[in-house]
Amino acid sequence: MAEDICDSGKSDVLQAATHYMDLAAQKLQLEKDLLKVLKEPKRTLTVAVPIRMDDGHVEVFRGFRVQHNLALGPGKGGIRFHPDVNLEEIVALAMLMTWKCAVVDIPFGGAKGGVVCNPKDLSAAELERLTRRYVSEISIIIGPEKDIPAPDVNTNPQIMAWIMDTFSMQSGFSVPSMVTGKPLEIGGSLGRNEATGRGVVYTVEEACSRLNINIAGATAAVQGFGNVGYTAAQNLHDLGCRVVAVSDSRGGVYCEQGLDPREVLAFKQKTGSVWDFPDGRNISNQDLLVTACDILVPAALENQITVKNAPAVKARLIAEAANGPISAGADRILEDRGITVIPDILANAGGVVVSYFEWVQGLQHFFWSADEVNRQLRRRMIDSFRKVYGLREQHGVSLRVAAYMLALDKVATAHKLRGLYP
Ligand code: NAD
Repeated sequence: MAEDICDSGKSDVLQAATHYMDLAAQKLQLEKDLLKVLKEPKRTLTVAVPIRMDDGHVEVFRGFRVQHNLALGPGKGGIRFHPDVNLEEIVALAMLMTWKCAVVDIPFGGAKGGVVCNPKDLSAAELERLTRRYVSEISIIIGPEKDIPAPDVNTNPQIMAWIMDTFSMQSGFSVPSMVTGKPLEIGGSLGRNEATGRGVVYTVEEACSRLNINIAGATAAVQGFGNVGYTAAQNLHDLGCRVVAVSDSRGGVYCEQGLDPREVLAFKQKTGSVWDFPDGRNISNQDLLVTACDILVPAALENQITVKNAPAVKARLIAEAANGPISAGADRILEDRGITVIPDILANAGGVVVSYFEWVQGLQHFFWSADEVNRQLRRRMIDSFRKVYGLREQHGVSLRVAAYMLALDKVATAHKLRGLYP
């Protein structure tokens, strides 16, 4: 069994990202001193967030904002509210954002934030106070030219609206471009909600054409039926692909003739889950990952495909819609088995691309049509896929190492041109 670099402990994502950086740096013959700089987060801020709870007592939460690298532009990255948030995880996710922005050629650096809390235990008023005080505390390092937050786990457009309002109140005027993922009515972008799932499918189309998989007639399984998973399943279905299995946290459903994602969504909206969908048979999430299909889209959580189940995966192509769904050990097994993986920093970058469009539209006070957003998104995703694929061919590496090579090279070049201050 292959050694698994990232199947244990909390630092999995960081260890895996550092491992891929090392592989890419070796291929690029990157200077050791520069690699040292690229591995370190530029700025980490830990804040205490005291708020008055509804019953009158004061609770103090801990929050973080990390800027991993700002060589290409302001920081960009989501804010996560979750009881398991910790600084190491936020550093790792900020680092992934640096590489993701560089792969799709947008002028942002990588950042991420989080608050250790369980939003399900908070009332709406407590959640609003927590958000506003957290933003106040990190306002010393964020802003439209400095670092632009966005939604992540357990944060949504309403929370982005509170973030925008808090920052604007402190500035004395509205600053919509200091955050993305806002509601449309206050400067959000059309197409943002569907951007990640759509982007995943654009990269799948490109990969399929190179692997001689005819999407119309191919089969797919999608793990996770939330925003990204549903959109990816729907777009694959619209291209004529048979979506044979989908799942959510409760479990999955399988139908050899193919599921209609719209019907499954309507059922989930009624019952709370895809489980028990009448036109299919129930399967577990573990079964879904090893289902016979051409295309597998993990769109739920990290570390779903590990050294334990990677040998049983039957798909020919995997698109990482989630961040880090394949452990580093599993990645090696899949590569040895000839299974193509479109890495997260490329496959799921559609969300940050349209966040960039939202930032640009906000700065210009000029808003695009949904068609324009989708056309520009498609162009960027396809261009990036082609560059990554070209590097893979040229250097005989996996798409993941090729994507890291593209990203590292771009950020390293910016550092070299800018020089080492002072
Ligand atoms: P979401 O909350 O809308 O959906 C998550 C889905 O995963 C839900 O259907 C949930 O039931 C399911 N799920 C949870 N635990 C599961 C489990 N153990 N097995 C199977 N399914 C499970 O979230 P989302 O926005 O669709 O994000 C999905 C993934 O994509 C996350 O990893 C996220 O970090 C990543 N991602 C999202 C975006 C974006 O723009 N939304 C961008 C980049 C990456």
